[in-house]
Amino acid sequence: MSAFNVAKFGGTSVANFEAMSRCAAIIEANPNTKLVVSSACSGVTNLLVELANGVSEQERRAELLQKLANIHDTILSQLKDAAETAAEVYTILDTITSLAEAASIQASTKLTDHLVACGELMSTHILTQLMRERGIDAVRFDIRDVLRTDSDYGQAEPQLEAISQLAQEKLVPLCQQHVVITQGFIGSDEEGNTTTLGRGGSDYSAALIAEGVKSSGLEIWTDVPGIYTTDPRIAPKATPIPEISFSEASEMANFGAKILHPSTLLPALRHDIPVFVGSSKEPDNGGTWIRRKVESSPLFRALALRTNQTMITLHSAKMFQAYGFLAKVFEILAKHKVSVDLITTSEISVSLTLDKTGTAGGAPQLPQAAREELEELCTVDVEQNLSLVALIGNNMSSNRGHAKQVFGTLEDYNLRMICFGASPHNLCFLLEESVAKTAIEKLHRELFE
Ligand code: ADP
Ligand code: ASP
Ligand code: MG
Repeated sequence: MSAFNVAKFGGTSVANFEAMSRCAAIIEANPNTKLVVSSACSGVTNLLVELANGVSEQERRAELLQKLANIHDTILSQLKDAAETAAEVYTILDTITSLAEAASIQASTKLTDHLVACGELMSTHILTQLMRERGIDAVRFDIRDVLRTDSDYGQAEPQLEAISQLAQEKLVPLCQQHVVITQGFIGSDEEGNTTTLGRGGSDYSAALIAEGVKSSGLEIWTDVPGIYTTDPRIAPKATPIPEISFSEASEMANFGAKILHPSTLLPALRHDIPVFVGSSKEPDNGGTWIRRKVESSPLFRALALRTNQTMITLHSAKMFQAYGFLAKVFEILAKHKVSVDLITTSEISVSLTLDKTGTAGGAPQLPQAAREELEELCTVDVEQNLSLVALIGNNMSSNRGHAKQVFGTLEDYNLRMICFGASPHNLCFLLEESVAKTAIEKLHRELFE
């Protein structure tokens, strides 16, 4: 295991010159931090996604491009010696202009990845120069030379063996000499095409890179001092959790806690790398340690919210006392590469939710061809505008009485689907998007405050 530490800074942490300077101070404070993974400056990926989705109106496109230029210009203007960095950033802005025009004619997932990757490519040029101006021996590294993925644009799958080999070959020696600044979120496939790991993917990148270089620790610096009992923007009385296990934190991330990309903890767990989550605005205020073994395992740990859910209900009288129906349904879904998340069944129907979407965002869609094939077998209802609320905890399926407390609190809500029992760590249910936040507030008051 290498002695060095990997630090990841999210979008708000590198939003402007002051924020980037705070990151630099955090890096300076720990001489073991040799590898820094940065997101794009706050707001930049959203602008790029809009352009990538295809903006045909020339005026709007110009407006978005101007916003992108302004965000970066403002930081560049505060550097002492910006000339070289500005030239690099402007070259990327030119690329964005051409790609945005191409996307306005014909958008594609491949083009989207090429375009949205530009945010991280720009922020890392600036962060590197800012660190150099503070006297740190920083070098910028293009992570596409290491972070090998498949070609599933928008939600590319990392190729772990290749990443590990390339990281040992190219990154480790560099980190022994310098502080290396690199991009989160992006990678490249075997042909050298740029790919992305899905929105919020920088956390996952940082963990994959930490795994690749066999790092001793991973720090995720964000805008809140740790993982809270729920999103503090939803329940202001949510409190930070000082220590949490990999499995609980993974469940939280999987069930939508935006603080961590859902896959972040997989590499950390594989290599037993402790993860710290803290606020780059208040680095001395502590945060959350995520470890394999923790001191306490409370029944209720946290609440998570995942919006933009799509529920499919398949209904067939033929399912009654028949076998092979579910196998046929899953064969069709697999054929059309539809990934299923949650599932509940009754005698004559089955409800399921579709898995996450990629970088372009939005609710996951059931492809028309899959729908048509399913309709030969059963009736198909698709519902959207749903949210998934998950209660995360420990030994929930072997404890009595808490279901009454949870469902009693939610007696006024129409729960569309309930999943419980498969994991000892969660109880989750779907409800209308418009009431999901108030349901979380209510549950938080009842179970955590
Ligand atoms: P970054 O840009 O640093 O990756 P994100 O916006 O992706 O930051 O994630 C941080 C945000 O996650 C917080 O501002 C908070 O609103 C949200 N969040 C959701 N669930 C939680 C939670 N359980 N604890 C803390 N923050 C949470
Ligand atoms: N910049 C990317 C996003 O906004 C990745 C990240 O910040 O994690 O989704
Ligand atoms: Mg994030």
